[in-house]
Amino acid sequence: MSLVVMKFGGSSVADANKIKQVAAKVIAKKNDGNKVVVVVSAPGDTTDDLIKMSDKIALNPPAREKDMLLATGEMVSISLLAMAVNVMGEKAVSMTGPQAGILASENYGCAKIKKIVPHGVRDKLAENNIVIVAGFQALNPKGDITTLGRGGSDLTAVALAVALEADMCEIYSDVEGVYTADPRVVKDARKIDCISYDEMLEMAGSGAQVLQSRSVEVAKKFGLEIHSRSTFSENQGTVITSEEKIRRKNMESFLVSGIPFDKEQAKFSITASDTAGIVAKIFSQCAKAGVKVDIISQLAGVDKKTVISFTVNRQDVRKAWEQLNRIASDYKASVLCNEHVAKVSVVGTGIKTNAEVTARVFEILHKSGIDIEMISTSEIRISCIVNERDVLKAVEELHRGFGLSRQ
Ligand code: ASP
Ligand code: MG
Repeated sequence: MSLVVMKFGGSSVADANKIKQVAAKVIAKKNDGNKVVVVVSAPGDTTDDLIKMSDKIALNPPAREKDMLLATGEMVSISLLAMAVNVMGEKAVSMTGPQAGILASENYGCAKIKKIVPHGVRDKLAENNIVIVAGFQALNPKGDITTLGRGGSDLTAVALAVALEADMCEIYSDVEGVYTADPRVVKDARKIDCISYDEMLEMAGSGAQVLQSRSVEVAKKFGLEIHSRSTFSENQGTVITSEEKIRRKNMESFLVSGIPFDKEQAKFSITASDTAGIVAKIFSQCAKAGVKVDIISQLAGVDKKTVISFTVNRQDVRKAWEQLNRIASDYKASVLCNEHVAKVSVVGTGIKTNAEVTARVFEILHKSGIDIEMISTSEIRISCIVNERDVLKAVEELHRGFGLSRQ
């Protein structure tokens, strides 16, 4: 008998009908001869709505109370789903994160899972239950409920699957899996059958929104295969697994796996006289203010000036300006910000083995008349900052240029 962890995202449990559909799906999985553990997110936009509600009461509430509030969303889903399974004649029991033995670090809002003590879950499985666990929440050493950061239910599912030594971890959402490009933008984007952990991490970090990155990191660490698939179809989705396994099975011999993009970028450029310590100052101030910096470039020593450029997510622009204004007056620097840039990336393990991929990225963009403002690379990713108005064209041209379109 196999043990399967099935995770359903917020859009899969957004209303009563969808909850009934999910109930039927988990019962079918049990009837196939599996032990089933289900992890669910809060229904629909509940978490966002709870945040808005708390903002109306207090802009800076105690972190403990905020987590207590946000954790309620997932509890709505577990109890309703357990009821739905019951009505359909199967045994089910709901468990909060703490009841399921999910133990985390002390910090509220983005706690880290330290350990899972899954005896309670195992006992309920042994009693022939479908066990339904609240995602996104855990117990900290103080005995308080904490949350794991936005999108944290994926992490709950992966960590539970590892702790229970599950045979399968299926992550269900309203999309069919991971695509070569956003199918809403590129009409002939293809569903990827298999993708490596590292490619998936690069895709997620570059704008593809399918799985939470931390969950992929944990899956990679423990070699757990994830199957990302749709709640509303029976089609196979995308398997996220190790590069070796993909190579062994000789699946997917594409040089490039996907073209993720992120339209919400902004670029700062600071010109100052070449003063020692200015770079350290800029980025330590940004870090202190919680501004996440992405691509950085520096042009030093031209006319005794240094030009430092970096990109941030557009929502951090105001916070970044506050820090940079201070630095501008301390160092007599000038600061510019372009809020209309976007990032397009090419992700694929082929990049590390085939030098031509890099050259081709720039050729394709050049032939399409697209200017590149900044470039950054990793072993398996090439990212370019371009003008926001060019980004969709860049995605389409790269997608076609690398032969990713459906045949
Ligand atoms: N409900 C939480 C959120 O919206 C956790 C999750 O959906 O994974 O971030
Ligand atoms: Mg959610």
